[in-house]
Amino acid sequence: MLKILFLGKNCKDYCKRYGNKRPKLEFTCDNSSCDCQVLHKHGCFWRIAVTKRRQSKLPIYRWRCPVCGQTISVLPDFLVPWGHFVTPVREAALKRRQLGQSFKKIATGVACAAVGGIHPKTVKRWWIRYLSKAGDTALWVAAELIRSGIDEDLLRSHFRGVNPSPLDTVRWLFSLAQRYLHILGLNPSPLRGCFSFLNTMLPAPLWL
Ligand SMILES: [Zn+2]
Repeated sequence: MLKILFLGKNCKDYCKRYGNKRPKLEFTCDNSSCDCQVLHKHGCFWRIAVTKRRQSKLPIYRWRCPVCGQTISVLPDFLVPWGHFVTPVREAALKRRQLGQSFKKIATGVACAAVGGIHPKTVKRWWIRYLSKAGDTALWVAAELIRSGIDEDLLRSHFRGVNPSPLDTVRWLFSLAQRYLHILGLNPSPLRGCFSFLNTMLPAPLWL
């Protein structure tokens, strides 16, 4: 099982903190027959993380239940399981697409040749994945806003009386996410974006 947690504001910070030692975290097994057994340290594996200009190899730490064998690996919040590029780079690419830029132009803008560049098809893949998830993720954020006391018709800001396009849904998710961060008193820098933070809160199937 994977978890995403804040473990440093970027690759460099993470390496400084946890390059040689694991984070002091404790997990209990969620398997009901394990009776909240505390998980043991269980080594690490290495993950490539690519930023706009650099590529690094980061240790990803694992924990394991001595009773049932279930493992937990903890990704820093700037990584997701399905890509090498860090989340703020993907988010920047998706924001450019939302504004109508071509995949080719985005590809040359978000990654330098020093990290091997990026293929426009990769950006397209991110975009398709984003469109397919935006609706469910937006509903999750809307539910959190309602839970926090927002008392207005959030769906209306999406539909506006017509059938929303996938792009409308992406815009809706973006505006909901901004409000959510605002309510939590967070104002992430444009460099960090908001996906990294959201991924620490979202259930795994909705990770952005
Ligand atoms: Zn267990």
